[in-house]
Amino acid sequence: MNYRHAFHAGNFADLVKHAALTQILAQLMAQPGPLSVIDTHAGRGLYDLAGPEARKSGEAQAGIVRLMAATDAPAEFGTLTAAVMTLNSGGAVRRYPGSPWLIAQALRAGDSYLACELRPEEHAALRDLMKPKRGVRTLCADGYDAAVAQAPAVGQVLVLIDPPFEQADDYRRIVETLASVRRRNRDAVALVWLPLKDLETFDAFLRDLEDEVRAPALVAETRMRPLSDPLKMNGCALVLPGAPDEMVAPLRAICGWTARTLGEGGEARVYTV
Ligand code: SAM
Repeated sequence: MNYRHAFHAGNFADLVKHAALTQILAQLMAQPGPLSVIDTHAGRGLYDLAGPEARKSGEAQAGIVRLMAATDAPAEFGTLTAAVMTLNSGGAVRRYPGSPWLIAQALRAGDSYLACELRPEEHAALRDLMKPKRGVRTLCADGYDAAVAQAPAVGQVLVLIDPPFEQADDYRRIVETLASVRRRNRDAVALVWLPLKDLETFDAFLRDLEDEVRAPALVAETRMRPLSDPLKMNGCALVLPGAPDEMVAPLRAICGWTARTLGEGGEARVYTV
């Protein structure tokens, strides 16, 4: 495991994922009953953009720093930008929230959040950050296994799956995890983040998902440039099995602004499979 999210925190893909996460949380929390959230690949929860990793990659400068300076960003980024303002006391953007920080902030009394992180030093930072938060548990464990073992059989569930895609079997494990969770709880909703390199890999994933998970899924592609070089990360995709149709408009707004404003000849596509 070489992946360190500190190099990528606050990049365009984090903006898309985290804005969509705040939107789906708000929509599910508007439904009656408590919400259970499982984050299979949680990371450390909070990132220092002045640290050597972020400075070396420059990805946050091209992402969250531009979003914070934008005057035309859609309202769907509002919860994320408010979180960034709070973390930085309204000053220069130095701290950026990960999914655990955003989820923990949104939790209401009665909701619960399980955050899984396999890397011990990342998990230690996550555990310390989450200690004061009510309703939160962290696990230093494989997040796919934990989601399958711990997803509640009844009630509202949101599973966030955001792997580093270092392992060849990540695509397969996502499909297997979602199939198991949805067999247990028909109402479970998921938000999956994937890189967009070549369309062949992505289309194969969508076909497996249709065959094995058998739930309608919203798909939101943020293409930052034409997909002509399959070795490059040309964009990212979010796949949301079980998500309400009310997510279509927010996904269009989030992915469209990101592709148009931060991309180079980029475009967004939102559709259902
Ligand atoms: N979801 C986080 C966020 O939005 O802030 C970012 C997560 S980062 C893309 C992926 C994380 O998954 C890394 O911190 C990595 O150490 C961790 N990881 C890798 N394999 C894992 C596994 N099988 N189970 C749990 N965590 C894993």
